[in-house]
Amino acid sequence: MAAPFSWIRPEPHGIHILPADCWVDPSRAVDKALVTHGHADHARGGHGQTVATPETLAIMKLRYATSDGATPVQYGETIRLPGGVEATYIPAGHVLGSAQILLEHAGERVIVTGDYKRRHDPTCPPFQVTPCDIFITEATFGLPVFCHPPIEEEMAKLLDRLAAHPERCVLVGAYALGKAQRVIAELRRAGHDAPIYLHGAMEKMCRLYEEHGVDLGELRLVADHSKEDMRGHIVVCPPSALNDRWSRRLPDPITAMASGWMRIRQRARQRNVELPLVISDHADWGELTRTIEEVGAQENWITHGREDALLRWCQLHQRRARALALVGYEDEDD
Ligand SMILES: [Zn+2]
Ligand SMILES: [Zn+2]
Repeated sequence: MAAPFSWIRPEPHGIHILPADCWVDPSRAVDKALVTHGHADHARGGHGQTVATPETLAIMKLRYATSDGATPVQYGETIRLPGGVEATYIPAGHVLGSAQILLEHAGERVIVTGDYKRRHDPTCPPFQVTPCDIFITEATFGLPVFCHPPIEEEMAKLLDRLAAHPERCVLVGAYALGKAQRVIAELRRAGHDAPIYLHGAMEKMCRLYEEHGVDLGELRLVADHSKEDMRGHIVVCPPSALNDRWSRRLPDPITAMASGWMRIRQRARQRNVELPLVISDHADWGELTRTIEEVGAQENWITHGREDALLRWCQLHQRRARALALVGYEDEDD
């Protein structure tokens, strides 16, 4: 009989499922990839076959212009892989289409979370706690200092600043996949129904979200409007455009940035951000430790961030854990 869990192996380029010869979120092109979500550090083009949710496949098609070998899997659906392995895609609550992947073989259950959060997000279904033997968790914000405030507080800060300066605009830097749409949807939830202006780089992804049923209200392109039109309004752009020449066309912008890293003042200063908004699509420290407790796996594998503190937390709480050394995971999405 094979040793327990010898069928699944963390390798530098991803999680390798040996009997099926396929990989989860491989950082290089492979024959067969199971992809958790569309961020660039998880989804790469060029695989022979890509198994992912229909939303993730649509995102990958838009970003990498490849759709070869796309195999859609719905949330809750189980597919059979070669070698007696089954894979089930479960909501991860991170961005549109994001999934945890439950892998089952010989009665053993392993979950690869990809990225996840436990907070409410109007753009995707919530993370689902699922029992398993090995829980492979991300740890992007795996330090006790990271405690994301309620998003309602951050929205109120943004709307108060906007109301206080009707002759200016608030320019919000937000990642083009996930963060931008969540910020817009949360503004709508907070009752802000004025048009929101978009940098051109945001348009296609926002349209894709709308096509998948996420209502973003009235969106306008900055390029189609004058400075006067944008006074007293919110403009959303990629973080790279915050201090760019492009912003000169805006009416005296107040620069804001939506990111979990805005908890660190130094990061806000580096980007010349006047209004840091601590909004993250990743679990904070409290969510990470709560999730490990709720899932209750016999073993936790920690990856993708600050592994050490979470590893120590597991040891202190009598939970078996190890840190993985996967390469090629950077924060595209924080
Ligand atoms: Zn991500
Ligand atoms: Zn990631």
